[in-house]
Amino acid sequence: MSEIEEIKARLDIVDVVGQHVQLQRSGRSFKALCPFHTEKTASFIVSPDRQSWHCFGACGTGGDVFSFVMRREGIEFGEALRMLADRAGVTLAERRPPEEERQRERTFAANEAAARWYHELLVESESASQAWEYVQGRGIDRPTAEAFLLGYSPASWEATGEHLGQRGYAQSELLAAGLLVEGERGVHDRFRGRLMFPIRDRRGRFVGFGARALDDSMPKYLNTAQTAVFDKGGMLYALDRAHEGIRREGCSVIVEGYMDVIAAHQRGFDNVVATMGTSLTERQVRLLKRQARNIVLALDADAAGSEAALRGHEVVEEALREGADRETVPVVTWRGLVRYQDAAAVDLRVAILPSGRDPDEVIRADPDAWRQVIASARPVLDYRFEAAASRHDLSAPQGRSEAVQELLPLLEPVSDPVVRAHYLQRLSRLSLVKEEELSRMVRRRRRSGRAGEPETAAPSLGDTRGEARPEGFLLALLLRFPHLREAGLEVPAELFWESANREVLAAWKRVPELDVVKESLPEELKGHLERLVNWRLLLPASEAAEAVAKCREGLEKRQLRAEKQAMAALLAAREEELGASTLVEAAASGAEGAEEPVKEAVVLQRRDMETGLRLHAGERKEEDGETAETVIDG
Ligand SMILES: [Zn+2]
Repeated sequence: MSEIEEIKARLDIVDVVGQHVQLQRSGRSFKALCPFHTEKTASFIVSPDRQSWHCFGACGTGGDVFSFVMRREGIEFGEALRMLADRAGVTLAERRPPEEERQRERTFAANEAAARWYHELLVESESASQAWEYVQGRGIDRPTAEAFLLGYSPASWEATGEHLGQRGYAQSELLAAGLLVEGERGVHDRFRGRLMFPIRDRRGRFVGFGARALDDSMPKYLNTAQTAVFDKGGMLYALDRAHEGIRREGCSVIVEGYMDVIAAHQRGFDNVVATMGTSLTERQVRLLKRQARNIVLALDADAAGSEAALRGHEVVEEALREGADRETVPVVTWRGLVRYQDAAAVDLRVAILPSGRDPDEVIRADPDAWRQVIASARPVLDYRFEAAASRHDLSAPQGRSEAVQELLPLLEPVSDPVVRAHYLQRLSRLSLVKEEELSRMVRRRRRSGRAGEPETAAPSLGDTRGEARPEGFLLALLLRFPHLREAGLEVPAELFWESANREVLAAWKRVPELDVVKESLPEELKGHLERLVNWRLLLPASEAAEAVAKCREGLEKRQLRAEKQAMAALLAAREEELGASTLVEAAASGAEGAEEPVKEAVVLQRRDMETGLRLHAGERKEEDGETAETVIDG
């Protein structure tokens, strides 16, 4: 993945735009008053699915998250890239100073040295006997302990510092790695007398530790504090060992404890990972989604387990209280989980463990029982409905009202009308409130702006690569074949949604010579240009002109389709506000003497129809014409 793609994968355009513009949900999209021109009714649309924005009013343009920031801040692509990279937590390779890179390497190395030493102590040292007994008591065998490099940190304030000091690590490096901390008694070891779980990132680098107390020291679990390489909301324990299993099984399983993960892997369930004492975060879902779309959350049956994800704000408060571990953790609530499912096409299910048992116990007692638990995982909404039904006394009006209060907000993010209708029906049966009334309540909640809470923005798990391919293909053709210049100059920049492509097109339009194009591009886009130039074009020069025409047509159609979709959403919203019959009457009478919003809606209707006709005309032409195979390969 290039840096540009990485940034796009990590950021949600809805969040970025939502910082500057008051967005309102409208079908699968969001709408707002255009920030780039003055208008009274919203014609600015943000699509979470496509990760694009569009103004259908005076601007008549749109693009991706980069072009929004460029326009909004009045900055060049390079600067927008740096801003968004910062926000996404992506370090731009060329930009990371060698010194910083060296420090990161030292942190990985210090953590690894500590992990190996702790491991040696666990399996060999007399002082670790209690820790080793605990490991064995939990049914972990020696090969597994070795594979996970379980360890023991000596019950001393300075042993780790001294050992690593002898290995050539400076105190400042150990502080940066989080192995030492500075407290009232000066600089000392962070982990003392604990069972150590080294935490590795996806690539297997040692980023930090989880540490379990062996007596009643508090906290029971202590993690490495946030460091330059350790960010517990953005990683998953054992993902380095699990990603192959996840891909093979087509499913990942998330548990809460390190021991649960280890027990699962020992029994061959190698698609299991754990969060690190926090609720599931959006970034973690993204990490998992790269391997497989199916994600199962395995939760304890007792209240603490099954409500962990519900009490998002409490988790954050706890994180703040921890003192040494001061950070906020982005938390996904139940509504958040529903939204992932909705917007990202992630299949998120909840598996409930037998009462009073954690995954480790279930797996050890009977691996088949574990298989069954995972296989019986329920879709998040089904699970919440069942939980609510069992928690509230549905024979009493008060209980039914509480159930509605609990479940209704969960239906807000569901944009698929069929799915929503299904759950509204269920809620209606359960609460004895009429469906229409519930439906009105959802709409009221949405309108009253609750849908605008920060956590409501749909996550950007979409992949825009596929849609961007015709853009890249077209550019590759222009860059390769000089005789296409005239046709290329006529391609409007607006047809390109990817800022990187738009920049290359603009540079090429100014001067076609490759080295001049390269010279005029910002540093960050040179790699992108390189890829376009090296695109494998499997077609002769004689067919290139036709291919350009086809690409352009394809891009135009994509544009029209986006417009049509956006207008349909705007019209639907307008209809809901004004009433369908008012609009029909107004349209019939030419909207003469009608109120301003009605007039605008009629104009919108007309434009919607025109767009539909244009789109239709294009499609008809396509059917009539021969279907020349264009080879797109890159
Ligand atoms: Zn505009």
